[in-house]
Amino acid sequence: MGWLPLSLVLLLLWSGVAAAQTQLAPTDAEAEAVESAETAAVELPERKPPKPPEPKSEKLPGARELFASVPGAAPLAARAIGFYSKGCLAGGVALPLNGPDWQVMRTSRNRNWGSPQLIDYLARLASDARAFDGWPGLLVGDMSQPRGGPMLTGHTSHQVGLDADIWLTPMPDRILTVQEREDMRAESMLKDPLHVDPEKFTDLQIKLIRRAASYPQVARIFVHPAIKKSLCVRAEVAGKDTSWLGKVRPWWNHHYHFHVRLSCPPGMEGCKDQPPVSGDSGCEGDELDNWNDMLKKSAIWMTQQNIDPDAKPSGKKKPFPITDLPSECRTVLTAGGNELLSVDDELPPIAVKAAASKEAGPGVPLLSKTQLQNLLNGGKIGIPLPVRNPTR
Ligand SMILES: [Zn+2]
Repeated sequence: MGWLPLSLVLLLLWSGVAAAQTQLAPTDAEAEAVESAETAAVELPERKPPKPPEPKSEKLPGARELFASVPGAAPLAARAIGFYSKGCLAGGVALPLNGPDWQVMRTSRNRNWGSPQLIDYLARLASDARAFDGWPGLLVGDMSQPRGGPMLTGHTSHQVGLDADIWLTPMPDRILTVQEREDMRAESMLKDPLHVDPEKFTDLQIKLIRRAASYPQVARIFVHPAIKKSLCVRAEVAGKDTSWLGKVRPWWNHHYHFHVRLSCPPGMEGCKDQPPVSGDSGCEGDELDNWNDMLKKSAIWMTQQNIDPDAKPSGKKKPFPITDLPSECRTVLTAGGNELLSVDDELPPIAVKAAASKEAGPGVPLLSKTQLQNLLNGGKIGIPLPVRNPTR
């Protein structure tokens, strides 16, 4: 979840345009060539003074590869360092795979790590939602990698241990097997690309989102724009006070899960907050109309191109050099004697496995033929066009 115009990114991916060509730093061979040319131009003294030790090669794999390859947390004081989409996590804590009222999904990804504040929040939400809202337990999706940082697949954010994805599917009444946690799919709340299915997005889900947004440490919650729209209409099923709605923000792809983002814990140095939400509900004004237009365009395009909504995104991710992260993230990477992956190393199995795991939920559905035709004709999908020539 980032702040780029994601629509644009998606369009690029969809149209199969390869990601920007990697700007390669001069290779060792080139650098060496320059050096020897310079050496040749000057007369060498008879006896060279001893050379200072060569600095170790600065060439490192990208930050995605580096962070995905570390199996455990940085043994440092807990700290979210940097920004949600440009940072890392010191002293990360793993959310236990099974709690009294939660279970971690897609455990092969090893992304159930967070700041202690995130762990506390999730445990509290799980318990409160069960006690007060009848939600049987949380299925927890991606949080952060053990040391945060950018990931090989999915997510622009989730880098500092303050973000978590929570499925909108209730937890089953039993402990899932490891295999089930890999294979089970979250259920989409959408009936079509523009509307939720009220049979699936029920009062229970609304109460869960309200509960999740109600704690002061929550900065934002991201949901699909159709979910936001439905919340605007139905928020009161979760109680008269609807002031929580302003924290719930529309964003692409959050139709089978919602994303919780905590604020930086008070006084945490180097943790960068996002500007706070404006305070209004986000239900008035033209924001949701604009989203509706974007969703329409995207749905028409995907349907016309016959894009498989369940296909894994195929575009290559933009390179993410470690130098784009706060410099402390290097300390986080090497803490506890962790040896950095080198450019010549293959990705370790832990990283390969994480990247290969199945998508947690279905893609946004395509339009039916009739829906597409209606949209192209300026009608609304899901609502039949008025009869033009009533017989009476
Ligand atoms: Zn997320």
